[in-house]
Amino acid sequence: MASEAQLRADIVEVGRRMYARGYTASNDGNISVRLDAGRLIMTPKNVSKGFMEPQMMCITDLDGKKLAGDRDPSSEIQMHLEVYRQRQDVQAVVHAHPPVATAFAVAGIPLDRAILAEVVTTLGSVPIADYATPSTKELPEAVSRYIKAHDGMLLANHGALTVGSDLFSAYFKMETIEHFANISFVARMLGGERLLSRDEVLRLQGLRGKYGIAAPAPICAETSGSSVGQADCQVVFAPASRERLVHAADDEIRLTYGELTALIEDAVKQLK
Ligand SMILES: [Zn+2]
Repeated sequence: MASEAQLRADIVEVGRRMYARGYTASNDGNISVRLDAGRLIMTPKNVSKGFMEPQMMCITDLDGKKLAGDRDPSSEIQMHLEVYRQRQDVQAVVHAHPPVATAFAVAGIPLDRAILAEVVTTLGSVPIADYATPSTKELPEAVSRYIKAHDGMLLANHGALTVGSDLFSAYFKMETIEHFANISFVARMLGGERLLSRDEVLRLQGLRGKYGIAAPAPICAETSGSSVGQADCQVVFAPASRERLVHAADDEIRLTYGELTALIEDAVKQLK
């Protein structure tokens, strides 16, 4: 297990990377790690994640009571505590507002389409936890719905949350979510993603063991449009198809302006 000094230094490093990549502005975001069975190290309130020093961190117990540190712990501490309560395997929690992923969270669009093999293998789906007022107990409740089955999620109209078996693994999942969001956005601008088929998704899931990826829950590949995430599995939208790649828009009906006008005229005539 890493020493306390190493964990404090790692939090400073991850904070710098998040700030440098624009995942947080001003004093946004927070980071925590398990120090031992009963204690956490947590970033303090009102500090930019890009300008932290190791001695600024707070040490708390698993109920959020401060045990050491000159500053108060992050106002989002309850969200972190909820994750540690529900996931004994989680050693670190990272929360940030990466702009493209947060835009998906603002638009209410989950990152749950099977488009990138490595995302399917590592994260599965990235659902959206319901909107909750930051720093209230609503937020841990919203997170609690998905955290058992997901290592990463969007927070509606707020940001993103990732967890891992160590701090860097939690941080890299935040990078993966923002990368995934960027690619999804551009692919949609280019006419829509081609999705991996359901069979391909199940094949990728089978590779998790081979790569030593301890995903928290199995993938349930959905075939019926954008899914609502579930508590016990990762719902990934992947159509049933003999082809390995299927255009996302294939099951949409597309009409030209002329066809649409004719349809409306027809309908109006029948009303007369
Ligand atoms: Zn936040």
